[in-house]
Amino acid sequence: MESAQLFDAGEKGRGLRATREINAGEVIFSEPSFSAVVFDSLFSQVCHSCFRQQAQLHRCAQCKFAHYCNRTCQTACWDEHKQECGAIKKAGTAPSENIRLAARVLWRIHKVSGLASDSQLVSVDQLEDHVADLSKEDLDEVNTDVQTFLKYWSHGRKQHSAEYIAHLFGIIKCNGFTLSDQRGLQAVGVGLFPNLCLVNHDCWPNCTVILNHGSQTAVSSALHSQRRIELRALRRISEFEELTVSYVDYLNVSADRQRKLKEHFHFDCTCEHCRQRANDDLMTAGADSKPSAEKLKEVAALSREYLENIETARVNGDYHEVLRLCLECLQQQEDVLADTHLLKLRVLSVTSEVLSFLKSFSEAAAYAHRMVEGYKKLYHPNNAQLGMAIMRAGITHWHAGQIEAGHAMICKAYGILMVTHGPSHAITRDLESMRTQTEMELKMFRDNKHEYNAMRDAALKNPTKSVCIDFTPAASQVTRVVCIAFS
Ligand SMILES: [Zn+2]
Ligand SMILES: [Zn+2]
Ligand SMILES: [Zn+2]
Repeated sequence: MESAQLFDAGEKGRGLRATREINAGEVIFSEPSFSAVVFDSLFSQVCHSCFRQQAQLHRCAQCKFAHYCNRTCQTACWDEHKQECGAIKKAGTAPSENIRLAARVLWRIHKVSGLASDSQLVSVDQLEDHVADLSKEDLDEVNTDVQTFLKYWSHGRKQHSAEYIAHLFGIIKCNGFTLSDQRGLQAVGVGLFPNLCLVNHDCWPNCTVILNHGSQTAVSSALHSQRRIELRALRRISEFEELTVSYVDYLNVSADRQRKLKEHFHFDCTCEHCRQRANDDLMTAGADSKPSAEKLKEVAALSREYLENIETARVNGDYHEVLRLCLECLQQQEDVLADTHLLKLRVLSVTSEVLSFLKSFSEAAAYAHRMVEGYKKLYHPNNAQLGMAIMRAGITHWHAGQIEAGHAMICKAYGILMVTHGPSHAITRDLESMRTQTEMELKMFRDNKHEYNAMRDAALKNPTKSVCIDFTPAASQVTRVVCIAFS
């Protein structure tokens, strides 16, 4: 922690600030998780040690719950799993992710008394819990979890009061971060990173957090590094400037972001962007045809209804219905909502994804292009979500045979991800090889268009050669737990 230090951030309480000037793309600090667990829904698809998602994991013979890539991953995780394994065996079944995480945190606290390393700035016990600020509903939920926890823990040697356990659940609730898989494409678990918890929020932050699985691509898992987060600078930061990350997606109007932050993290955001209501006008703008206020309101309400139905169809796996609803909704929005209107951007995003999924790449590319143009007007130029969106759009253009646009977008995305994810991240390396590949194809295209098109058609017929675009919500960053609910 040479580049950051604790300081009194006034109304915000504790915070971290830079101890020197930092450049865009620099890693300010990296930190292994204090504890982490895989989501219930993915317990058999994601390794409980390295959090890689893959087929054919080996099951722990004892509890039959934990899954691992291989023996090396299992051995690496045994210290973390040992007591959990016994508890699950005794209970006969594994409790939910919340309970599992709280128990792992408590076992770790017992072992290291809350401080896992010299560089950890505060003990886990001393993190904010906001239990006193919880609504009646949330408090009931916590109390139910506490009861379940105490049963699960009943075989443990040291017993704790319900109050202390509620304190732990409070800490997890407002400090837990979601972890993504090795490609950063899907949220697969949740963990606690004590130093990262000290970084305050800003809607227009100067840092971003990503999970770096390090050398997890190494063939031998003995060479894998611990799962750890990196705090990376999005721009030049001066000495003693406060370090900030965003706890919520920027693509919400300021009042919505403030409401979400108040609800989940119990503070009123007074950042520059919220005070100025920056970009709120663009996010709610009407089209150039200047529709009336009533018309805008009517189409916005209609769009919300459509988005709910689209989500239902998506969950049911009815992708043709998703597409039908999207196109119908876009027709209603045309000439009424601007391309930077949040509701239009959401529909554009699903439309391009579903069209890619259905392999209508040319159409998908057109919608992806519009979406990216809208995003560029709203997001910080080094925003990770923007980088991921441009990457997806680039791949879509590439698949559609629009090699010039595809290559340009892939280069652009690569530039952003070099800052937000860094050169060693798996997704940046993917982008780098795509950049080389598209550059080669672009040269071929310029030399001989006919030959290029013939080659491309052949490649698309062979599905193993085309890069697969997942039809899943992107979770490119490590985000506070709450963001899952928003995506
Ligand atoms: Zn593993
Ligand atoms: Zn086990
Ligand atoms: Zn704000």
